Amino acid sequence: MLLGCSVRLQSGSKMVSVRLLREDEKSVEVELEGLPLAVMNAIRRFTINEVPTMAVEEILIIENTSSMPNDILAHRISLIPFISDIDHYVAPEECTCGSKLGCEKCTVRYILRAEAKDEPITVYSGDMTPEDQNTKVKPVSPKIPIVKLAPGQRIEMELYVRVGRGKKHSKWQAAISSLYEPKEGAKDKRILYVESIGFLPPKRILLEAAKALEKKAVELEELLSRELAGKQGGEE
Ligand SMILES: [Zn+2]
Repeated sequence: MLLGCSVRLQSGSKMVSVRLLREDEKSVEVELEGLPLAVMNAIRRFTINEVPTMAVEEILIIENTSSMPNDILAHRISLIPFISDIDHYVAPEECTCGSKLGCEKCTVRYILRAEAKDEPITVYSGDMTPEDQNTKVKPVSPKIPIVKLAPGQRIEMELYVRVGRGKKHSKWQAAISSLYEPKEGAKDKRILYVESIGFLPPKRILLEAAKALEKKAVELEELLSRELAGKQGGEE
């Protein structure tokens, strides 16, 4: 662990430095220096809305005799964060399958089946069972209550867990983050605090945010060079 150590990179004439100040299971704090404030803030925003995570995107309700309407039940389930395996799964719009049902690269299928016999029961996130028992993609906690069933009531549904980003829907929001000035130190220093919702380890969120920023810069470069080359060609 490089706690307290700083990494410096030469960027143009200014030194960019990153220093890990503190970390635990849920959050991480780093000191950034030598970057424009807008770039630091872009990284903060990207930890919130550009980092891929996994949640239930689609629900097929086969049976619901509970007192909760289908749409509310579906909404509650969709807000459950899943431990996200973003090394193996891609967002449906980035997948090559083009299938509405998805494939093994873009969809993890879960089944939720519960019935109250003689006593009322509470259905929890832990009652959802994956089709593939070996999947790493599972609810961050098995104790999130979903619905209460009275005797005789029953629910059965298929759940499709998929990769998404906070910008598409806040249910995929990876973290809560803030950027603030240190009590003392240089003017161009800021501390970035990132607290994970639970989908991914906080350090991974930070790395994914930096990766997303890099991807945007590459996209911009490609678009600019295409646009400028096109204009040049048009004038000839
Ligand atoms: Zn697919």
